[in-house]
Amino acid sequence: MIGIDLGTTNSLVAVFENGHPRVLANELGEELTPSVVAAAEDGRILVGRAAKDRLIVDPGSGMACFKRDMGTAARYRFGGKDWNPVTCSAMILAEMKRIAEMQLGSAVTEAVITVPAYFHDQQRQATVEAAKIAGLKVERIINEPTAAALAYGYRNPEQETQVLVFDLGGGTFDVTLLEIFDGVVEVKSSAGESRLGGEDYTDALCAWLEKKHAWSPERSQAGNWRQRVEVAKRMLAVHELTRVSVNGSLVDVTRDDFKDATASITARLRPVVTRCMRDAGIAASDLNDVLLVGGASRMSAVHEFIHDQLKRIATAKLDPDRVVALGAAVQAGLCANDAAVGDIVLTDVCPHTLGIEMAKEGGSGRPESGFFAPIIDRNTTVPVSRSRVFNTMHPQQDIVEVEVFQGEARMTKDNQKIGQVAVNGLRHVPGQKHPGEIDIRFSYDMNGILEVEVTVLSSGQKKRLVIEQRPGSLSKREIEEAIARMQPLKLHPRDLLPNRARLERANRVYAELVGHARDHLDSLTNQFEAALESQDPHLIKPSAAVLDSFLRSYFEHEGERQPGSADA
Ligand code: AMP
Repeated sequence: MIGIDLGTTNSLVAVFENGHPRVLANELGEELTPSVVAAAEDGRILVGRAAKDRLIVDPGSGMACFKRDMGTAARYRFGGKDWNPVTCSAMILAEMKRIAEMQLGSAVTEAVITVPAYFHDQQRQATVEAAKIAGLKVERIINEPTAAALAYGYRNPEQETQVLVFDLGGGTFDVTLLEIFDGVVEVKSSAGESRLGGEDYTDALCAWLEKKHAWSPERSQAGNWRQRVEVAKRMLAVHELTRVSVNGSLVDVTRDDFKDATASITARLRPVVTRCMRDAGIAASDLNDVLLVGGASRMSAVHEFIHDQLKRIATAKLDPDRVVALGAAVQAGLCANDAAVGDIVLTDVCPHTLGIEMAKEGGSGRPESGFFAPIIDRNTTVPVSRSRVFNTMHPQQDIVEVEVFQGEARMTKDNQKIGQVAVNGLRHVPGQKHPGEIDIRFSYDMNGILEVEVTVLSSGQKKRLVIEQRPGSLSKREIEEAIARMQPLKLHPRDLLPNRARLERANRVYAELVGHARDHLDSLTNQFEAALESQDPHLIKPSAAVLDSFLRSYFEHEGERQPGSADA
């Protein structure tokens, strides 16, 4: 099994061998294969370095950066054929497979492939489809920053560290916060921007130079010009000053020029970092390390940004170009139960908020449809199961069409629809309990399986829908097993015995107290009940601990033995 980093600009293939991940090189000794496909003059299809060179000569002869279009209906035409992001990616994956087979001397049929954390299901599915065309079965799709963390965590699994992975590639930007302790790599949160990367820096520098020198390249020279600016950008990662040929004359470009030219791009990094830290509830001062990933993280403008924003100097302990591929290989080792990585446990979060569409009273005072009602928030640790109760709009309404969406927008039209299920029998009947109420439970696991259970509370009638992130990748039995594993999560925390016992104990003590102590206990109980309603273990645990400590001190004071307090 191989690990593939299918990058916007470059792709790499790695393998886990003799207890270590290793990146494999092609015949030219190169580990980075440009993610470029082109047609030669004689119509032959070129992949990688040759295709990239061909594009410099004839920009219309092929395609680069197609990863940005994954999951869309984009079409390209070159070499007399129609192409799309999936078929272009398939050519790159086939090349990775070929390199691996040549290096390993055996057939390769399975792969772990990395994608940006912010890829939504369609983009992930498009990646799986591309692999299928390339003759590879996808064993697992993992997020690039998680892969980076695995490559990092696998080396120091025992050390307790909070790491921010700052991944700026050619076309995507991802930030992930991880905690590593006792061999567990726990993803706390992730955030990203799917159209922001090193290529935008090159574009911005091109535009800045063109404007400054009141010049624009001929169409046939555009590829060549961009290439020169790309080189200048890379030079500025190591030098204060470089030169670039504009319209035949050499002009100076300093780091400060570059910073000015690209300030609007750098400004877009900030909100992503802030959102990720906020979601995880981690402050910059809590971080132990900032791990740089992606070629564009080499730019001094980025180092300065990290220094300003996170008040620390980022370390590139692992090569930013290789770390994702190395992590993919570690994951391949995990999948293959390699003893050398057997001790690492990886926990992940769901990257997008999952919910349903609902109607509510809009600004006009009339019911309006199309609102998003979140059920599982983004960056919740998986596996997770959450439920919420909804009502029909009118007593006469009999049917509800539950439409399932993922995304962060307030209106569902701006999110992604991933499935739907209908229930009926909701018309109000006099005397019945819970008229028109439906309980919607979402259960989501690490394999990307979302189980939606809709229960009509008046009759107990249930409907179930299973949405796979990667249809076809798991057998029916594997799906049923994954769902069965989520079963214990499905009890609402308020119904769990230890929590019920805790509340009963609190009520008993409440009756004994008066005055300020009683008010205080009341407010602690309220907080605990609110935490239970949130169904979020991160809120339940601390509020249970505070309540327990109050109750414990009461019992100690009273000299009464407290009945065994259990965990939330
Ligand atoms: P990746 O998608 O990780 O391959 O990232 C490639 C991006 O990193 C491209 O936009 C490159 O221009 C950029 N990049 C690679 N090396 C450097 C460097 N030394 N300095 C600045 N940018 C670089």
